[in-house]
Amino acid sequence: MPEREIYLDHNATTPVRPEVAAAMSAVVGDEMLTNPSSVHLAGRKAKRAVKAARQTVAEALGAQPTEIVFTGGGSEAINLAIKGIYFCHEAERPHVITTRIEHPAVLRTCEWLETLGATVTYLPVDNYGFVNPADVEAAITDRTILVSVMHANNEVGTIEPIAEIGAITKARGIPFHVDAVQTLGKVPIDVGELGVDLLSVSAHKIYGPKGIGALYVRTGTNLCPVVHGGGQEAGLRGGTENVPGIIGFAEAVRLAVAEMPENDRRYRELRAILTAIPGRLNAVRVNSPDHDCLPHVVNLSFLYADGMPIIMNLSMKGIYASVGSACASHEMNPSHVLMAMGLTEKAAFGSVRFSMGRSTTADDLEYVADQTIAIVEKLRKVTVPESIGKCDENCPCFLD
Ligand code: PLP
Repeated sequence: MPEREIYLDHNATTPVRPEVAAAMSAVVGDEMLTNPSSVHLAGRKAKRAVKAARQTVAEALGAQPTEIVFTGGGSEAINLAIKGIYFCHEAERPHVITTRIEHPAVLRTCEWLETLGATVTYLPVDNYGFVNPADVEAAITDRTILVSVMHANNEVGTIEPIAEIGAITKARGIPFHVDAVQTLGKVPIDVGELGVDLLSVSAHKIYGPKGIGALYVRTGTNLCPVVHGGGQEAGLRGGTENVPGIIGFAEAVRLAVAEMPENDRRYRELRAILTAIPGRLNAVRVNSPDHDCLPHVVNLSFLYADGMPIIMNLSMKGIYASVGSACASHEMNPSHVLMAMGLTEKAAFGSVRFSMGRSTTADDLEYVADQTIAIVEKLRKVTVPESIGKCDENCPCFLD
């Protein structure tokens, strides 16, 4: 084991924090906290606990408790939103609008709808991953049944102009789903201000347990269930509720929201250490935008060095980062997000994502920056013996 370990993969997942573990273990050990659907007193106790948790999650989103459906995580919430709208639609040849940089939970679901006869528009993004709201407007047809755009991208951190898109979908009367898995507890969310109808969130990105999430469903939205069962979650998600998970999720939400301003300030300061790397090493692009970006995420592309050997070398030094997203890291394809942003294949293959967390310190990041530079210099000595010139971030070496 390396002497020092620095975890910088918080966008993949976060550990359960002690306060959350304590709240959950109090429930797990309580013999009298049973099935919330049972009518006896023990059941009612469980029902009250779930009700309080629902209230906490609803408040964090500016929603009503009746608009929160607990699910088995972010992917399930996304599936319920997209398939739930599709199964209820009345359009002849339904059309869905999404973007090229969504998480696989959205992209694979949309691709599956295509096999059922839907048409899907995958909107482009600019060199920093921003969707243009005018493109959303232009793509809408009289057959459009859903628009789905992520709040912030998991690989580069770009925060999309959701309120502008929400104003467009509202004016056209089209349901709008937002994947907010990466923004809950990091960026203020108000479903009213954002103008969204459906919004997916997950606990394990904010120091909560894995396998629990929620879908916000605006009152009046025509949504069909995907999991049929005993009528739980207002008939939208059958199955006995995961009471410890729900309670842990609510505690994680409460703490993340309370600590958001302080974390935001800290991450903004800390990120400068990583975004300074291109000033210390030639041919490096910061793929994360310098505005409207999750402050704890820095994605860098190193020319003449691949992301995979960089993260393997970092890992041997006890530094845990990732190439793009954790879900994509076993694939040998360049990141679909970076390719959609117009990066060259070489620049996309040379990318590394650092995502900070509560434990990250300036000292950690100084060490990470030094080690990363040393590793890339070592790898480049093997691949390119001659010296490497300066390339700014708009250089054709990075962008097609
Ligand atoms: N959406 C985004 C943007 C994500 O980053 C993730 C997780 O990586 C998900 C959805 C899926 O969430 P979960 O792991 O809770 O299913």
